[in-house]
Amino acid sequence: MIIAVDGPAASGKGTIAKALARRFGLPHLDTGLLYRATGIGVIRAGGDPADAGAALAACGFDDALLDEPELKGEAASNAASIVSAHPAVRAALLDRQRGFAAQPRGAVLDGRDIGTVIAPQAHAKLFVTASPEVRAARRHAELARLGMAATLEDVLADIRARDARDAGRSSAPLRRAEDADLLDTTGLDIAAAIAEAVALAEARLGCGRR
Ligand code: C5P
Repeated sequence: MIIAVDGPAASGKGTIAKALARRFGLPHLDTGLLYRATGIGVIRAGGDPADAGAALAACGFDDALLDEPELKGEAASNAASIVSAHPAVRAALLDRQRGFAAQPRGAVLDGRDIGTVIAPQAHAKLFVTASPEVRAARRHAELARLGMAATLEDVLADIRARDARDAGRSSAPLRRAEDADLLDTTGLDIAAAIAEAVALAEARLGCGRR
């Protein structure tokens, strides 16, 4: 059983994907971390994330990098958004993601192209979204919790720039799969968003109570 959760930055998709993984007892992969690790790898090597060769060279990172707190920061997030536009980077990270999805009992993956490219055969697909302003406020609060200073204006500008890059790239752009359920979390708190996501997934998986 594969559950695909896609959506833009700070839409709540990561929290929702983790909750779905708990609910259905499945392993979870935050695929954004793979792009963040690649982006940080390029920066640490003194390269430019816009350089496809440098980005591809950083795709062979060690799994230990995925646990580093620096991956949560704005530098990683910007570099991730840039390296992820290179088709060669997306191709290099494809097998890792498909391999995770192919585990015997299945998996929950969250990202931008899970329902469209990585696992189009997923049994349940959610496209999670929220207004840019609400997403910026959430991201701003998260950065403050992590002790990473940023103004709300800068975070909103960053969210808009990433949205444009993610939706505008030619290789696997961010878009809702035709068979994905839309979940707008703008007016929902975490508990309500999770409850709605579980209900939608249960209905798709045929184990719902409604
Ligand atoms: O989800 P997260 O914000 O951590 O993702 C960081 C960046 O990685 C995104 O802005 C996006 O450009 C890229 N990404 C992607 N495809 C995915 C996951 C993330 O292109 N499946």
